[in-house]
Amino acid sequence: MNYMKNIRNFCIISHIDHGKSTLADRFLELTRAIPKEKMQPQYLDMMPLEREKGITIKMQPVRMEHNEYILNLIDTPGHVDFSYEVSRSLAAVEGAILLVDATKGIQAQTIANLELARRQNLAILPVINKIDMPTARIEEVKKEITQLLKIKEDEIFSISAKYGTNVEELLEAVIQKIPSPSNDKNQPLKALIFDSKYDPFKGVIAFVRVIDGEIKNNEKIYLMAVKIEGKVKEVGYFIPDFYPKETLTAGEIGYIATGIKEPGKVRVGDTITIQSLKYKVTSFPGYIEPQSMVFASLYPENSDDYELLKDSLSKLKLNDASLVFEPESRETLGRGFRCGFLGNLHIEIVSERLHREFGLNLVISTPSVIYKIINQKNKEIFIYSAQDFPNPSEIKKIEEPWVKLKILTPTVYLGRVLDVLKEIQGKYLKTQYFGEDKQLLIYEIPLREMIIGFYDKIKGKTQGFASMNYEILEYRSADLVKLEILVAGKKEEAFSKVVLRENAFEIGKNLVKKLKEILPPQLFSVAIQAVIEGKIIARETIRPKRRDVIAPLYGGDYTRKRKLLERQKKGKKELKEKGELHIPPRVFLEILKG
Ligand code: GDP
Ligand code: MG
Repeated sequence: MNYMKNIRNFCIISHIDHGKSTLADRFLELTRAIPKEKMQPQYLDMMPLEREKGITIKMQPVRMEHNEYILNLIDTPGHVDFSYEVSRSLAAVEGAILLVDATKGIQAQTIANLELARRQNLAILPVINKIDMPTARIEEVKKEITQLLKIKEDEIFSISAKYGTNVEELLEAVIQKIPSPSNDKNQPLKALIFDSKYDPFKGVIAFVRVIDGEIKNNEKIYLMAVKIEGKVKEVGYFIPDFYPKETLTAGEIGYIATGIKEPGKVRVGDTITIQSLKYKVTSFPGYIEPQSMVFASLYPENSDDYELLKDSLSKLKLNDASLVFEPESRETLGRGFRCGFLGNLHIEIVSERLHREFGLNLVISTPSVIYKIINQKNKEIFIYSAQDFPNPSEIKKIEEPWVKLKILTPTVYLGRVLDVLKEIQGKYLKTQYFGEDKQLLIYEIPLREMIIGFYDKIKGKTQGFASMNYEILEYRSADLVKLEILVAGKKEEAFSKVVLRENAFEIGKNLVKKLKEILPPQLFSVAIQAVIEGKIIARETIRPKRRDVIAPLYGGDYTRKRKLLERQKKGKKELKEKGELHIPPRVFLEILKG
């Protein structure tokens, strides 16, 4: 008998909060993968932060048995920043449940994930969830889904993941409608990595879909994209804890303890094969180098916490290969790290974890994208921070990353969404209509606009009803300049910023104004200037704080008064000449926050 006939590999894809984890819980109960007494809500969400925030950062796969079938479920991360990870999970399965909340209808993430699933030619099972809720709009949502998938209404399942209504029927449909794998166990090993986890004893554990061939303990393996070798310490299934097995075979989902010690080397999307067979195998298509798109600086609020921050970042990195960081120190700020992230939510998750799991209070700089500068010698330079910005005379061309942005909004909020979009430099592409009252706006905008509060703005203007998604496009030319700040004539590099030329004046003006407010008073007058390309574009002056040296002397003695005033003047002059203006760290931290 062909063992593969009884395997079903699938994912649940949905917008955040539409009930993925809850549905997975019901499947686990139905198949008794988890005994009822051990069951707790959102069982597959392993990190406390996930349970609390209700977002799935790292998915935990699970293998279930139902009648004579083996069902492998991969829970996918639900947010925009992780679309590459989602696409690799989808590449590891044959089908997907597309889950839609009956009270909300389809959202931007539903559409984005569906597109990814279609690219992998997956069988799609459309499901409406939360039908128990009084506010469920089952009929309207059915219309939206039929339009989205071009299917008939009777192909859609209606369930309540919370109460288990129709969940068993859905599981039956998974078996009936999702195809079994069609791979070849007699071919050389080809296994796709869709996730990984670090284990201090076994090294990096790769979560894999075995495409072809088979793999056993002690075999020598080869990672084709990264080009490194390992020796298998263990293979097995997820139940959902690790469950060691003799062999993993074509069509199966499981784990390989690679024996590789450096976490960064085992990457999502890479292909594992057997070392001695590496020339006989073509790697699985679609691998992308992990790439940080957004940078931000992290400084501990308390400078004594630097070592703790360093240690904590290294620990987080073990299970999050997309996080990169390097030490950075600015004279006045102390020591911190410049970190690369996939996007804004990624920054939020990392800083939240640093806070909760390691007790760190951090100051985080305004995030910045990576700019590409082509210099006069036609060399490409990538700029992560204003400090590295070259001299204007060396620059031939500057480019910045753009994204394709999709915003799904109820029609009533269309005007407000368009107002936000009007404020930014974007390019309208088209509108798609869903159901009676939803529209999908498709734009191209610079990533730079996306990462500075854009999402919150859209959410705020639409009372949370609009949702959005983006995908990175290519670099396009941008007219950018370095904005510098002089305090008492001295350039303070920590305040420098890369800005659009057309915004430079506005930003410069605000920056010097803010500095004037937060710099402590001095005994002499201090000029604060904003400069681009050597030209002053804005200026503020802090008036001297005159210590009232003559106040104690009321009445008479004019000469003594004059002497005192004179001495004060001289003191100020000396101070000024020495240029000793002390900018306290909190001022830098304040400006860093943006
Ligand atoms: P995920 O983000 O897609 O994993 O969503 P969760 O499974 O974490 O569910 C989000 C919220 O919706 C939780 O508070 C669930 O209890 C709730 N929920 C999920 N399914 C149902 C359902 O069928 N009915 C009701 N009333 N609530 C549900
Ligand atoms: Mg979840």
